[in-house]
Amino acid sequence: MNAKELGLQIRSKALEIGFDQCGILKVDELKDYADILAQRTNDYPDAKPLYDVLSKLAFPQKTYDWAKSIIVCVNNYAKYKIPKQLDGIICKYYLFDYKWKNNSKDFQKVENFEKFLQDSQIKIVRDPVLGAAPARLCAVKTNLGVIRKNNFFYTKNGSWSWIETWITDADMEFKEDKIDVEECPANCNKCIESCPTKALCKPYSTNMLSCVTRFTYGTRGVTPKPFRQKMKTWIYGCDECQNACPKNQGVWKEDEDFYFIDDIVKFVSLEKIVTSDEETLKKIFLPKFYFINQERIWVWKCNALIAMANDYKPQYEKYIKDATLSENENIKEVALWAKEKINL
Ligand code: SF4
Ligand code: SF4
Repeated sequence: MNAKELGLQIRSKALEIGFDQCGILKVDELKDYADILAQRTNDYPDAKPLYDVLSKLAFPQKTYDWAKSIIVCVNNYAKYKIPKQLDGIICKYYLFDYKWKNNSKDFQKVENFEKFLQDSQIKIVRDPVLGAAPARLCAVKTNLGVIRKNNFFYTKNGSWSWIETWITDADMEFKEDKIDVEECPANCNKCIESCPTKALCKPYSTNMLSCVTRFTYGTRGVTPKPFRQKMKTWIYGCDECQNACPKNQGVWKEDEDFYFIDDIVKFVSLEKIVTSDEETLKKIFLPKFYFINQERIWVWKCNALIAMANDYKPQYEKYIKDATLSENENIKEVALWAKEKINL
């Protein structure tokens, strides 16, 4: 069987298992990812350590000397009902992340596909956190969609897809004949205008260090004061530049319940986050929202206090006041900032 025939067979199996789209490219097609990272490093030198971590994705064959091709699968999640109390608070990508429960429908797709590949004597590797390869670029190179000015990957269903990649030792290839999604209109800048921190400061270029999403993780400590108001009510991730996009209007169908979402919904409110003890927060949040690790579990409380101050309601006053007495210096400092912001 030649590379094209094998590619077609693997792609057919991926669709049969339930993925919306599948493409396959050769590992040596990713060299321009190194150029993209070099450009980003040039534009945002302070973010170099982040791009250095990603640089290995441009040359998978250096990490895995057996690597020959990359499979990329795309799955649309713009079909799940969005819980009202989490809309605008937790971004949709993380809310509908399939990796959360290994008995979920989407997780099973991934497992079934991997079993099929292994049974076919194809060696594979997947990286559930970083991705095995630059996912968006792989999807574009196999003609599954386009990357728009806000840097998100779009299909006909807008930007609401997760992408999974596998490095394989099989010589194979599959590309759609043509991309059936048009580029961004030349005169549209709505995503750039919507970015609260100006992290998205020009088309196709985001400064990750000032993106609200990274602030919500707390990886560099508590969010600096000049950015707190700009976080609006986001406590994990940010959807502003996707929500503002005309290409995302009318594509979300909300006709399926997301599995196990009630386990999160019943515990998540700004008030509950601020008053819960650390062990409870770890139990509820850690398995699903793992970018805030257990050492930084206090970040949830800081983010909730910032959201309360940015979307003031009289009932929040008590929680903000109580938090000013916290033994955690970060929580206390943010609560004092929130108190001042709402003139309490
Ligand atoms: S996710 Fe939010 S902060 Fe980050 S670039 Fe988009 S709009 Fe800006
Ligand atoms: S808002 Fe406009 S420019 Fe930005 S990604 Fe959407 S279509 Fe493209």
